[in-house]
Amino acid sequence: MADKRELGFASRAVHAGERAPRPDFTPTSTPIYQTVTYLYGDMTVPDAIFEGDREGYVYSRHGNPTVRALEEAVNSLEGGRGTQAYASGMAAVFGALLATGLGTRDRVLASRDLYGATYALLDMLMPALGVETIFADFTDLAEVGRLTKDVSPQVVICEVVSNPLLRVTDLPALAKIATAAGARILVDSSFTTPYLIRPLEHGADLVIHSTTKYLAGHGDTIGGVVVAANDEDVVLLKEQSKLVGGILGPTDAWLTLRGMKTLPLRMRKHCQNAERVARWLSTRDEVEAVHYPGLEGHPQHTTAGQLLGGRYGGMVSFELAQGEKERVFRFMESLQLCLPGTTLGDIYTQILNPAMSSHRALTPEQRAEVGIAPGLMRMSVGIEDVEDIIGDLEGALGIL
Ligand SMILES: *Cc1c(COP(=O)(O)O)cnc(C)c1O
Repeated sequence: MADKRELGFASRAVHAGERAPRPDFTPTSTPIYQTVTYLYGDMTVPDAIFEGDREGYVYSRHGNPTVRALEEAVNSLEGGRGTQAYASGMAAVFGALLATGLGTRDRVLASRDLYGATYALLDMLMPALGVETIFADFTDLAEVGRLTKDVSPQVVICEVVSNPLLRVTDLPALAKIATAAGARILVDSSFTTPYLIRPLEHGADLVIHSTTKYLAGHGDTIGGVVVAANDEDVVLLKEQSKLVGGILGPTDAWLTLRGMKTLPLRMRKHCQNAERVARWLSTRDEVEAVHYPGLEGHPQHTTAGQLLGGRYGGMVSFELAQGEKERVFRFMESLQLCLPGTTLGDIYTQILNPAMSSHRALTPEQRAEVGIAPGLMRMSVGIEDVEDIIGDLEGALGIL
């Protein structure tokens, strides 16, 4: 370019200071490549990238180095063949479903305990594409086996630990049933993270995460990923993502990548704190039931122990005795440290009442049917000092 001093004021406003020669160092932390496009002096380079003959960047909907760094990191922890990042967990769920090639007259067999928005996507949006979903109780694998024979699903989709009742799917056993029937297996592992389980090792084809939750972990960014077990799926995910366009932005990718560096440290503390909180809640008269896979009385305690390596995650649900709305609200308003937030997986302890929030759209009868009592509380146990979390719960239970 011409010497910038020869340019007019408006031209300098646009170009001055930009595109300095690349420095002769490697930054320790991947920079935020907040750019839409990429310039090359040699036009054969972008030509080859567009053609697919060469890896590289031409346009950030197709790929961005900061997003790529995050994809590589998740892929490494999950042991995948390739990973695609999305603007949210829900965009990732849709991206994974799309990559299976689902179309008219195809069927999905889904856990009825799926995350609410995933359930609604399958129940309300996918029928417009001609895809029918059959929901089943995935803790009853005999029933899942029968249904698989009856409906021959193209896709089976589940979570390892469900929301909010923390039921555990026996993934290896499920994968055996689904594989025998020729179905693709999609696993949303947002609650478990690769710290607790790597679903590809148990037969999953695609692993989904809402990175909004534990992977990013700090409550400051929304995103999602899909990890694939084979190369054909990686190509599909990437090609389809270019067309659908629900991509993750570089700043969100950077925040997620930053969060993931402490994933093992955070998860260890989440698990330790959650187990202590669950055991303490079990001793309280104000609490009718505690749902935590780490408790010996949990219906899938043994399966959970085997699958998750003797750790049980950071989520704890419990039922307040006489949990009518007014008492639930009084309890939540009395908390000083635990936040009444509608997300999970953050460093902060957060607590919500599914009947009022995530499962509000259901009728009281439907809620009763899926086991959601009015006084059910879902806790995402944070990494604070566990004595402070328990002290806060004790104070709030005390005023009931
Ligand atoms: C939050 C969540 C999602 C959706 O993720 P978003 O990032 O909110 O779009 C999907 N599945 C599970 C299990 C979740 O917890």
